[in-house]
Amino acid sequence: MGGMGSGRRSSSCGSRENDFHTIEIKWLMQQGCFSLAYFPMRWSRGEIEISSIGVTVQRDGDIVTGLELSYNCRGQSYKYVASVDWLPCYFGNSRPYFLCPHCGRRALKLYGGNLFLCRRCQGFTYDSQYYDPWMRNFVNVKKLQEKMHKKWMRGRTWGKLIEKHDRYMMALHAATKATLKRYKSIEDRIKKSS
Ligand SMILES: [Zn+2]
Repeated sequence: MGGMGSGRRSSSCGSRENDFHTIEIKWLMQQGCFSLAYFPMRWSRGEIEISSIGVTVQRDGDIVTGLELSYNCRGQSYKYVASVDWLPCYFGNSRPYFLCPHCGRRALKLYGGNLFLCRRCQGFTYDSQYYDPWMRNFVNVKKLQEKMHKKWMRGRTWGKLIEKHDRYMMALHAATKATLKRYKSIEDRIKKSS
């Protein structure tokens, strides 16, 4: 089964969430993935495939108990299990949920950065426009750079912008380090527990 997930996930709408690759458990089940032993997932923007992972389905008898995700990301290889939990719903059916590999909370969707985690662990907040300090800083720098490219301005104003740019760049640098550190500690915990 090739090309699972391709096309559908190519995102043109600009929501922040779409910057992440998601795995939706309901969709996987509807696609029949739970009856497979293994399947690939791919994400693309337009024609370009931007990432792919391998998913091995773990079972206890007939019941899917977890999905083992394996992939390479930024030169590092990953292999860990996103457990699947079944909760009873109406008429005796039950509905699957992921258990977030980091916090163990139930989630219908996992969001991939370096790791596939629940919304909360990936750093989304519902009420804030930007979901983490890194992104906020990144956006600050980008906006400022655009402004500096577009506008003709007098030396003094320009100098102020340069100063501001330096400040923003330093903040971005710090945020990048903090984000990498955060991922690292989550990775370590996941490695220990699996
Ligand atoms: Zn989580």
